[in-house]
Amino acid sequence: MELNERAELDTSQANDLGRGSGGGGSGGGGFGIPIPGGGGRGGIIGIVVAVLIALLGGGFGLNAMTNGDEGGQAGGGDLDQVCSTANPDRLDDARCRNLLYVNSIQAYWQTAYPELGRGDYEPTTTNFFQAAVNTGCGQADSGVGPFYCPADRKVYIDLSFYDELASRFGAKGEFAQPYVLAHEYGHHVQNLLGTNAKAGQGDQSGPTSASVRLELQADCYAGAWARHATESKDKTGQEPLFTSITQTDISEAVQAAEAIGDDSIQERSGGRVNPDQFTHGTSEQRKRWFSQGYDRGDPKTCDTFGTDQL
Ligand SMILES: [Zn+2]
Repeated sequence: MELNERAELDTSQANDLGRGSGGGGSGGGGFGIPIPGGGGRGGIIGIVVAVLIALLGGGFGLNAMTNGDEGGQAGGGDLDQVCSTANPDRLDDARCRNLLYVNSIQAYWQTAYPELGRGDYEPTTTNFFQAAVNTGCGQADSGVGPFYCPADRKVYIDLSFYDELASRFGAKGEFAQPYVLAHEYGHHVQNLLGTNAKAGQGDQSGPTSASVRLELQADCYAGAWARHATESKDKTGQEPLFTSITQTDISEAVQAAEAIGDDSIQERSGGRVNPDQFTHGTSEQRKRWFSQGYDRGDPKTCDTFGTDQL
């Protein structure tokens, strides 16, 4: 993967909330998971099973607090300045790289969404935070992993999640990062389409539950973006955001999808595999639906709700 050094980033698509915007920290640990709305889909929608992440080592919000300067993330900075072309080192900053991914994902949906026949795509912002954050879905800490909040329509991520993805889940490749973001924007697309609200009325766990179908569809949408990522243009509409994406990158995304399958996470956390508790799909399913999105390059082929072959 090569990012275009000349690309002008649209900084209106991300905010850096810095540290402690969750009201002085939540005590960390990853168990402070607010899910308003009686456990239904009114709550946050993450990329992995939050409680199981916590079981893997106690939540990583605490790591984020001690390693806040890692990877050039100062926190709370002004992305307008940090990520402007005037800063020659901007693409060394994880926030600017992730902003570029967000720009690419939303440029894709600007084109792809109208083809779904439900009007125009409505862009939304990603909030970078450290440790804890207040959202329209309640307070969350880093332990829950990256998530989308349907109530305020925003994506939230503590970028230290990627360190966890590499060290605990073995998904080391850089392209795991845009995969994670594209998955979360998949939830935004589902929210715009109304899929998310409909799924909220179905089962929230189990191998063929509405939750699993929703999550696998988000993986498929991520794959569809990946297929077209090199076509996405920067803020000026002139420069590509990615100069190249290789088969290795795609493999890294597939590997990440596989690493966070429900069965793998249950195994890693030392438990037995219990399909009744599946919420995101198995490793095989996550890998397969991402690949389906990538191979077909069309979100219309991501009909996880209408298939028997989940
Ligand atoms: Zn998800």
